[in-house]
Amino acid sequence: SRTYKICLIEGDGIGHEVIPAARLVLEATGLKFDFVEAEAGWETFERIGTSVPEETVEKISASDATLFGAASSPNKKVPGFFGAIRYLRKRLDLFANVRPAKYHPVPGARQGVDLIVVRENTEGLYVEQERSYLNGELAIADTVITRKASSRIGEYALKLAMTRPRKQLHVAHKANVLPLTQGLFLNTVLEQARNYPEVKTQDIIIDNCAMQLVIRPERFDVLVTTNLFGDIISDLTAGLVGGLGIAASGNIGLNNAIFEPVHGSAPDIAGKGIANPAATILSAAMMLDHLGEHETARRLERAVDRVLENGPRTPDLGGEASTEAFARAVAAAL
Ligand code: NAD
Ligand code: MN
Repeated sequence: SRTYKICLIEGDGIGHEVIPAARLVLEATGLKFDFVEAEAGWETFERIGTSVPEETVEKISASDATLFGAASSPNKKVPGFFGAIRYLRKRLDLFANVRPAKYHPVPGARQGVDLIVVRENTEGLYVEQERSYLNGELAIADTVITRKASSRIGEYALKLAMTRPRKQLHVAHKANVLPLTQGLFLNTVLEQARNYPEVKTQDIIIDNCAMQLVIRPERFDVLVTTNLFGDIISDLTAGLVGGLGIAASGNIGLNNAIFEPVHGSAPDIAGKGIANPAATILSAAMMLDHLGEHETARRLERAVDRVLENGPRTPDLGGEASTEAFARAVAAAL
């Protein structure tokens, strides 16, 4: 079998703990990996004055996929600093932010949930074009929607729906209030859906969608939406299945892909060796799916579930295990 070149970026805080844990588990899968380490984030900025060195971009580009831990951002404006993951999404045109929400045996998780939020990752309100007028009494933010970006995210979501048993797609939008921007997004995706007659596509207004996700989350399969709505709704869906300890994600482009846990660098527990690595290990499973190693990805998910169910668990899930002990248990369960 082939050897996959994987770029590992620990980043900051518990990134230094969860990435080695995921590496340990990947090494136990039986697949062959050539791991390349790269740096990014706040600690990198403090040391060399940039949060993403050019060498890191080169290493990501030369790899089959990248696994990212977490990066810290200061709460105040720091001259010259930019958020590492947001920079990489733009720089590498990682247009699809993919966030599965699936039942795992953890406290608070809703049974029967198995959905994926596909969030457009490059435009909408996140073009970050804000202006202030009248001594700060008026402020305006642009939202940008293009046919091109709507079309490629629609295509991605439809192809993803085709791989799923239910083959269902919800297009979540607010075209009733914003017919030009949201309408362009909605109509572009619906036009594209005509090329995928097997996918049951329906549109849903985003606020109703939020309510339906809380009341009957099990009726959703793949859900595609614009950037801001996707940001909010995917945190909601992470909450449905137990939250940050297990929420995984992928940032996917045509040439590169970066997988990362949804959680941040958790400065309150960093350095203690007690961070839950499950979200990073499940992100690694998404990465294996992306590489076409579906069987190993499923085996890895089942191994994580077995350890979540039987222990040892990390303190956030009521256990006493260390990050490394959890990872060793997953490796053994493989
Ligand atoms: P956070 O996700 O780091 O932490 C929120 C809470 O959840 C904390 O109490 C933390 O201890 C806990 N937690 C998070 N992940 C955990 C894990 N794997 N195991 C056990 N407990 C876990 O969010 P925050 O506190 O809002 O942000 C901290 C820093 O992380 C900030 O600098 C922020 O900018 C950054 N951040 C980065 C990303 C990213 O890299 N994608 C995402 C969110 C926040
Ligand atoms: Mn968010």
